[in-house]
Amino acid sequence: MRTPESIVISGVPASPGIAIGSVHLFEQEELHIGDRDISADLVEQEVERFKAGLVSTREEIEQIRETIRAELGDEQAKIFDAHLMILDDVTALEETMRAIREELKTAEFAYRRTLSRVAEEFDVAEDEHFRNTAADVRDVKRRVIRHLLGKPRPSLGNIEGQIVLVAHDLTPSEAAMLSKDVVLGIATDSGGRTSHAAIMARSRGIPAVVGLKYATLHIRQGDTVVVDGNRGKLDVNPSPDDLDEYARRQKQFLALENSLLVDRELPAVTPDGRQLELSANIEMPEEAELALARGARGIGLYRTEFFYMRSARLPEEDEQYEAYRKVAELVSPHPAIIRTVDVGGDKFASYLGTRRENNPFLGWRGIRFSLEREEIFKVQLRAIFRAGVSGNVKLMFPMISSLDELRQANALCKQAREELRSSGVPFGENCEIGIMVETPAAVLIADSLAREADFFSIGTNDLIQYTLAVDRGNEKIAHLYDPFHPAILRSIKTLVDAGHRQDIWVGVCGEMCGDPVSAVILLGLGLDEFSTSPYLLPEIKTVIRSVSFAEAKALAEKALRLSTAADVRSFVEERIVRKFPHVLFP
Ligand code: PEP
Ligand code: MG
Repeated sequence: MRTPESIVISGVPASPGIAIGSVHLFEQEELHIGDRDISADLVEQEVERFKAGLVSTREEIEQIRETIRAELGDEQAKIFDAHLMILDDVTALEETMRAIREELKTAEFAYRRTLSRVAEEFDVAEDEHFRNTAADVRDVKRRVIRHLLGKPRPSLGNIEGQIVLVAHDLTPSEAAMLSKDVVLGIATDSGGRTSHAAIMARSRGIPAVVGLKYATLHIRQGDTVVVDGNRGKLDVNPSPDDLDEYARRQKQFLALENSLLVDRELPAVTPDGRQLELSANIEMPEEAELALARGARGIGLYRTEFFYMRSARLPEEDEQYEAYRKVAELVSPHPAIIRTVDVGGDKFASYLGTRRENNPFLGWRGIRFSLEREEIFKVQLRAIFRAGVSGNVKLMFPMISSLDELRQANALCKQAREELRSSGVPFGENCEIGIMVETPAAVLIADSLAREADFFSIGTNDLIQYTLAVDRGNEKIAHLYDPFHPAILRSIKTLVDAGHRQDIWVGVCGEMCGDPVSAVILLGLGLDEFSTSPYLLPEIKTVIRSVSFAEAKALAEKALRLSTAADVRSFVEERIVRKFPHVLFP
């Protein structure tokens, strides 16, 4: 049923580097169940609860089976036929019912005991096929128990040792909990390069491959895997020779990374004197120090919503102020650009009332949330303005799609400042207020927006998804998510021109500027600032310091005249790789 031999699976490279380690399959660990008896009069109720748990588990398995059948065909779907047979196993069901009725055990305790015994019998079978069945039995057991306990997913907080995390998917808040000390690498079935879990992996320097589609079907707890985040491959149970080769490449990668760090104190200036502000994106205040160590001058995007998502309640003004002040002080005199909360889309905090929607990325997110929840928004605005006393704080709004939204948000900023002034609380009077340009609508009205914003920071992650109508987290259409689509290059050019006409600076804080080839084009398009994951900064700085602005401009002008993404890509890659081979990772 499973393939125990080695296999290489291709996905989307999401965070550079090579990780070698033992698999921790997320969602596969044992759930804790106490051995507590039920009273005799509750027996039938418990039996009914058990049956209901089996019904909902069956529905879940059938749904997965149908998806797999449609995507991969009957052969792969058979795993789930086997799971349904295990679920229907009469002997196991009778044994469980007997334990509930006669021993007064809870349904989850009785079922776990029964299926653990069945799995152990398979564990010692001579035939490999039966030994593999043990894993399937345990899988069904966990699924039923999760349904009985009403526990949708386990927590990632308790992983111990050093592992490679393999999961069907990771939510942004789960990814936010991961630490490089524990998680050596990440591999997920779902997701694209700019899904938030991928961004979190990059900002932690954890090699990752996403969009592996069905990797979790082929992998077992404890398998040895290699996550090749440079090439987007997951190698399961590689041969000893392959492992040696990966170890050699891992060493080479780390040496190159270290060599790039030598330039971290130098400015991001081209050989012909064009200077860019090179900043880092962070999700937590603690990451600001790492950003400086990797050569950032300032923080170009502080995604404050992770601060909200990490907490079970609304962070108070003083708490937020402390976090923002810390970042501002650390990077001063360089800017700390604090983005107001961007919940919604794939980021939730239940206490804020954001919910899963049919079209979450077109829904109640970003500035739309903040303008409707003024009381929450103003607390954040006050905290940001107060932090302005301690450094060069700038504020920006996410997801602006109309001038009305910018005006309303600016009016609330004015109110927040007046409140601070009237209560005698000091705040930064000269805080610039800019917008993220992430929607095609904002591109088309860039001239008007530029008159009322102090800067533009282009959020290419969303701008690409909205312009090309390609969900940034959907692995199935990841190949269509193309920063070199002419519509994207022309949108960026429109924004740079509109911004410069009004004398405001224009930056990019999407992941596009963390890619060395795209970075050359963005440099040539006249951007003033790049902000990307700290781990990508050294390479990008090397690129900027190697390419003359005149050459980058000529490349960008030519790229703008090409009509397909493929033409742009081959033109740009060929020139850049030929001319600057040393700036690209092996
Ligand atoms: C973007 O959309 O490019 C961006 C930087 O914001 P986020 O990735 O948080 O949506
Ligand atoms: Mg965005």
